[in-house]
Amino acid sequence: MMEGNLLKLEHFASHDGPGIRLVVFLKGCPLRCRWCHTPESQHPEPELLYQQEKCLHCGVCGNIFEKTVPPVSQTDVENCPAGALKIAGFRMSAETIIAEAEKEQIFFDESGGGLTISGGEPLFQKEFCFSLLRLAAERGIRCCVETSGFGDPDALKSWIPYVEWFLFDWKETDPELHRRFTGEDNRLILRNLNLLNREGASIILRCPLIPGVNARPDHLKGIARLAEQLDHVKEIHIEPYHPLAAGHYRQLRREMPSLPKEFPPPAVVEAWRRQIAEFTAKPVIIP
Ligand code: SF4
Repeated sequence: MMEGNLLKLEHFASHDGPGIRLVVFLKGCPLRCRWCHTPESQHPEPELLYQQEKCLHCGVCGNIFEKTVPPVSQTDVENCPAGALKIAGFRMSAETIIAEAEKEQIFFDESGGGLTISGGEPLFQKEFCFSLLRLAAERGIRCCVETSGFGDPDALKSWIPYVEWFLFDWKETDPELHRRFTGEDNRLILRNLNLLNREGASIILRCPLIPGVNARPDHLKGIARLAEQLDHVKEIHIEPYHPLAAGHYRQLRREMPSLPKEFPPPAVVEAWRRQIAEFTAKPVIIP
């Protein structure tokens, strides 16, 4: 029975694909986007989360939170009298996930929803995702995959028959800036996006826009131009920056990259939308 490393399962979600969805957030990502708002999804293995404000400094846990990457044990977490420790991450089999999804099948059928595999990066656990997608198809559950596109092209291609929508992140048009913002350039990502398009997969481009980082006129135009070149990109979705990652970094005891502290105002997000829409006939949506 194949198991994957998960961060969480989100039931009755309405954001990551059409209708009501069960979203499987996997752990492990090869990119390090400066604006990542779930840094606890980046490392492939379970990680310790520490809530300093709850800690009694009693030493029962041997102060494991002081180690950079401590081995995480359920016993350490359970022994904490203050509930200051948690583990981010757990293992679950594809069969168990599908059993969870089947409980919600009636809602999927009524709303046009289904299962979404998100991350982290699904391509980081490519074999597990393939078995999950195949099992879902056998049980009549429709699937979306949210991907950064940074991974094995053959794996991505093998998923196409089982995926209703690819929610494909497009983070930065300029390859060098892409490297600066995420740790890798966008060449492989672009190749994989072209591959999906060539094979006729249905694609939604999902574009995180961060003020002072990638929300620049040349990138907004670049998004539109890319969508125009690719027949199977059906929609462009804007994902406006949200500044809620600070607590996550604190609990991981990691330094947060320097980023804006505020949500971009709705008028600014609408201006970005219009700037993209000026250069493409495809729908540009703020979901
Ligand atoms: S056991 Fe809990 S309360 Fe005690 S030091 Fe460790 S984290 Fe803090």
